[in-house]
Amino acid sequence: MDVLSQGRAAVYEEPIGPAGVRIRERPRTEPQPGAVAVAIRAASINHLDLWLAHGAQRITPPRVIAADGAGVVEASGDPAWKTGDEVVIFPTLCCWECEWCRKGENVRCASFGVLGEHSDGTACELIHIDARNIFRKPKSLSWEESAAFPLTFLTAWRMLTTRARLQPGETVLVVGAGAGVAVAAICIAKHLGARVLATSRSEAKRKLAVELGAEAAFDSAAFSKAVREVTKDGVEVVFEHVGPATLDESMRSLAMGGRIVTCGSTSGVKAEITMPRLFFRQADLLGSTMGNASEFDAVLKAIDAGLRPVVDKIYPLDRVQDALTRVDTSEQFGKVVLSVAGD
Ligand SMILES: [Zn+2]
Repeated sequence: MDVLSQGRAAVYEEPIGPAGVRIRERPRTEPQPGAVAVAIRAASINHLDLWLAHGAQRITPPRVIAADGAGVVEASGDPAWKTGDEVVIFPTLCCWECEWCRKGENVRCASFGVLGEHSDGTACELIHIDARNIFRKPKSLSWEESAAFPLTFLTAWRMLTTRARLQPGETVLVVGAGAGVAVAAICIAKHLGARVLATSRSEAKRKLAVELGAEAAFDSAAFSKAVREVTKDGVEVVFEHVGPATLDESMRSLAMGGRIVTCGSTSGVKAEITMPRLFFRQADLLGSTMGNASEFDAVLKAIDAGLRPVVDKIYPLDRVQDALTRVDTSEQFGKVVLSVAGD
């Protein structure tokens, strides 16, 4: 079923960056059978919203942005949910009915997509969405924290657990440590009992990465040397999302039998690989995007066991252009959140 974003909403209208996302008013309706209407309390920005706003995603506007949202059920077309339930939204779009979906592999569904990219999104007052995309809000998190974790924690969880098979006691190197997904990776890797190293171009972000639990954080230039100084043999897992600007150094940082796992390439789409580093080291190069409902459930359980997202800064929905600009200029550490309705 179609996702409907209603009430006041942040709408991508023109591919000119943050200035092309504007607040518009959309009519409100009752949810269809099987859908739930959620009054959004907070949403959050991902780098994906910037790709969209700059016209890089080939999405035809208008489109309401944002994949992350938390709020209160206002009306339900599904008996599983009732008015007043506090919920978070699973940001993976899928059909829920095909063979892959029934096996729990939502990311392999032919209708796979990302909320707020392939449908309207959460940066609005009211969203109608498939009841199967709704999960209970973690009791221990504020509204802003609840909107800060879904996409990045789901993505980083799948990357580190399902794909890279990270084990307690192993060392993971998180590249580009300011980005939301990288901050999520630091939090999750620590939670799973791994040793964490990080890189960032920004001294302030390196300091924050260490405060968050990284053992050490290195400058992005030629970081493999520093990594080898503290690990001797290299790291078991490299968490990548930068791509061509860092991939060579990431491969140089890898231990024998190591795994590089990537969910993005913010520095460009084509990268060169020195092949002997891949095969002589018995290395794995792993791709991953978003995650399954079962992985979202695992993130919720980890949150109940103490895992916490990092909120960088909170803006009211009306200041969505400022929120987007903060991510566009890579000023953030953790998540930039939109407050939609106050407590
Ligand atoms: Zn499907």
